[in-house]
Amino acid sequence: MTVEGMECVEIFNSEGKGRGLKSTKEFWAGDVIFAETAYAAVVFDNLTHNVCHTCFKRQEKLHRCGQCKFAHYCDRTCQKDAWLNHKNECSAVKKLGKAPNENIRLAARIMWRIERESSGLAEGCLVSIDDLQNHIDNFQDEEKNGLMDDVQNFLDYWLSQGQQFGMNYISHIFGVISCNGFTLSDQRGLQAVGVGIFPNLCLVNHDCWPNCTVIFNNGNHEAVKSMYHTQMRIELRSLGKINKGDELSVSYIDFLNLTEDRQQQLKRQYYFDCTCEQCTKKTTDALLLAVKEGDPKPADSVVKEVTQFSMDTMEKIDKARSEGLYHEVVKYCRDCLKRQEPVLADTNIHKLRILSISSEVLSYLQMFEEAAENAKKMVDGYLKIYHPHNAQLGMAVMRAGVTHWHAGIIEVGHGMICKAFAILLITHGPSHPIAKDLEAMRAQTEMELRMFQQNEFVYYKMREAALSNRPIQVMQEPKNEAQGMIFHKKS
Ligand SMILES: [Zn+2]
Ligand SMILES: [Zn+2]
Ligand SMILES: [Zn+2]
Repeated sequence: MTVEGMECVEIFNSEGKGRGLKSTKEFWAGDVIFAETAYAAVVFDNLTHNVCHTCFKRQEKLHRCGQCKFAHYCDRTCQKDAWLNHKNECSAVKKLGKAPNENIRLAARIMWRIERESSGLAEGCLVSIDDLQNHIDNFQDEEKNGLMDDVQNFLDYWLSQGQQFGMNYISHIFGVISCNGFTLSDQRGLQAVGVGIFPNLCLVNHDCWPNCTVIFNNGNHEAVKSMYHTQMRIELRSLGKINKGDELSVSYIDFLNLTEDRQQQLKRQYYFDCTCEQCTKKTTDALLLAVKEGDPKPADSVVKEVTQFSMDTMEKIDKARSEGLYHEVVKYCRDCLKRQEPVLADTNIHKLRILSISSEVLSYLQMFEEAAENAKKMVDGYLKIYHPHNAQLGMAVMRAGVTHWHAGIIEVGHGMICKAFAILLITHGPSHPIAKDLEAMRAQTEMELRMFQQNEFVYYKMREAALSNRPIQVMQEPKNEAQGMIFHKKS
């Protein structure tokens, strides 16, 4: 396990809040406060053949472990790096005849490591696995039953694998996984692919308007100069100036929700009542519920009706989208936007949700002009709501920029790509693959923009030729995925 930067933070106890981390020096926007590799991590059950079990990159072709035929790797380097953590897993999978689910695989990896190091405290860690919170006392009946099943299946897998742990300890590990499992994404940040435990990160408390962000970086094989950068890791990055002694915070959830909904989600998933400034003052609720300015203002009854209509449509959209009926999604979105237009303001949450889905689906269907129009409205709304250095905002601006570029609206597209790059340099850092993609796109759109300004006619001719020569790069298929949840919770 590699940990960097832990000398810059210290644990403190505050009444009411419990443990937290604070900085022992000053930081500026984009600084890496600390970085750590996973204590243990596993690939999700449905992706074990598509994602490397060491670096969690999605790859077309992966090499299979010849022994268990379960683990998959990019290449020899990833396979070699994996062996220390895979050795016991390999023989356990072989013995059982199949791999158990991701929760059980992760618990076993944690326990093999504890066994190997004869302690749950890894080098460079401020906290031991034994001392992480498990929240089992807060579990509802359903969660308790799930826990019992996991423990039983774990014992079948673990059986005679060495040290015997007590039932309470095994339950503790599953509790830790349930509330501290961090979601790992693929190298483009597009898909959640696995779950891992990062002990130091577990010490960082939540704030709806945090001063830090956490980003997962899958590492880079080519960066041989620094061993450290070849490993997948999380980075805690500063979003602005942090003074010595300030508490560090990250947001466990997406900010783009009403205060009440954010609080419910935090209570349900992390068992605490958020008392941050945003929640106390309900700062953004007015924007998220705003109605169209005008004379006269829309009547309350009309606002209520359109809001209800939007929520009903959202359910239909989710269903259609999960079935891949994208043209139907487009139809629902158009109808809904027409109803919303004279009634809801551009920052209204119900409008933003529809704009987001419609621009994503329209891009996928290559209807770029309409997609760009909706993406522009969405980004304008987001900019009024999100923290200017929010990672989700950066990703949304990037997608909107690419959409404009595809639509041939090069000036706006280039502007958005520059803006997204500026945000992602802070939230992701310059070595992150997405930041590198953005840098390339920035150079490309800058060149095209210059060409466009010199001679529009030539620009369009060139574009036409480029588009007819190779099929336009198709956007990723829109998926229903929990966005912006940093910790993974098995439902
Ligand atoms: Zn790999
Ligand atoms: Zn194996
Ligand atoms: Zn809050």
